[in-house]
Amino acid sequence: MTRSFVWHVFHPAPTIIPFFLPFAGCPFHCLYCAQDLVTGEVSSPPLSFRFESLRAALDVRRLRGQTPPHLAFYGGTFTALPEADFAFCLDAGQDLLERGLISGLRCSTRPDALCAERLKRLQASGFTLIELGIQSFDEAALAKTCRGYGKEQAEGACRMVREAGFALGVQLLPGMPGVTARVFLRDVRKALAFSPSCLRFYPCLVLAGTGLARLWQQGRYRPWDLATTLATLAHGYLLAQDAAVSVIRMGLAPQGDLLQHLLAGPWHPALGARVMARALYLAVVRELAGARLLALRLPRALQGFCFGEKGEMRSFWQRLGLAPSAIRFGAYGQVEMDLAGKRF
Ligand code: SF4
Repeated sequence: MTRSFVWHVFHPAPTIIPFFLPFAGCPFHCLYCAQDLVTGEVSSPPLSFRFESLRAALDVRRLRGQTPPHLAFYGGTFTALPEADFAFCLDAGQDLLERGLISGLRCSTRPDALCAERLKRLQASGFTLIELGIQSFDEAALAKTCRGYGKEQAEGACRMVREAGFALGVQLLPGMPGVTARVFLRDVRKALAFSPSCLRFYPCLVLAGTGLARLWQQGRYRPWDLATTLATLAHGYLLAQDAAVSVIRMGLAPQGDLLQHLLAGPWHPALGARVMARALYLAVVRELAGARLLALRLPRALQGFCFGEKGEMRSFWQRLGLAPSAIRFGAYGQVEMDLAGKRF
């Protein structure tokens, strides 16, 4: 007996070039946030200078025959930038778009920093995707983390972005104060209800100099451990898989001085791959429905993470009675399982 199910493989196209504007437009520094460390942009030269360098780099890409990337304004609250900077970024971005040096524009912002007028201007300038730093839809967690907005506003912002015709990205912060595994999974379901184009899971870290670091030092905050994070994100990832929505990032990239300032929290260089390995395992177990697994055929794209980091998932597969040689990779369009009766 065979059974199969779809595992969506999301190709990392287009390339995204981030243009970091740490804390720009932010009403205050959020409890956990250290954008200067996270983005590696500690001091920022004038925008005009940065755009000139960017244009030169994009010219080089074009000369090399590389596909035009998307340009993304990240690291702050883009829709709340002071007017002069906002207008400058919009004009400069549109100019790059018209010259064919980039193929798209996107930005990230807070859910309480949207207004119809700025959304219209984003659209007129060629922006197609807005990522919202929602972090959680849970009222109590939002209050505990002093985010400055509530559940209604977070949901309203997702709706507003979609209704204005943009693709939506939702960033969630599993493990932030008040966000348990259960709350996080509810957040993922809620985010998926807005038909986003992508999600990002950033497990909450304790970074030096933040308010959260003080709470952690006082024993008033404890981050998730790595095992909880891997297991919970795997369930969240599977929910996104089921909805055919891509999780484009899990965990912070080790940019700038991030690791030197990391005091505590579930950071791992291969977090995303480890989560996907667990999610795939969960999906197979779910599909088994009590049957015994004899062999597994997987699309080749899953080969990179199926056995997890340093083969950590081999024992999981063996627990299902599956020898490594019974797992094959090839040009399969779906995950195919050879099964025999019931396992028990
Ligand atoms: S979490 Fe977002 S809104 Fe808060 S300080 Fe960081 S970039 Fe600004």
